[in-house]
Amino acid sequence: MTCEKFRNLISLYLDHLLAEDEVEAFEKHLEECEDCKTYFDEINYANELFGSMMDEEVPEKLVERIKKTIRSL
Ligand SMILES: [Zn+2]
Repeated sequence: MTCEKFRNLISLYLDHLLAEDEVEAFEKHLEECEDCKTYFDEINYANELFGSMMDEEVPEKLVERIKKTIRSL
């Protein structure tokens, strides 16, 4: 798997929309590629943060900062 393909698949992976063999290839690349691991961790962190916002009040400024970070990835 190329880094480009890996990055294209991250959102699908997080939504559990990948086929089993794609998940295997994805996780293999995640283990082997330091750059993609870092990238993945950041996306994953932002994803969890947004997910937990549903039932919590989050300061406007924090939301703005996160959105900015995601845009710059
Ligand atoms: Zn990579």
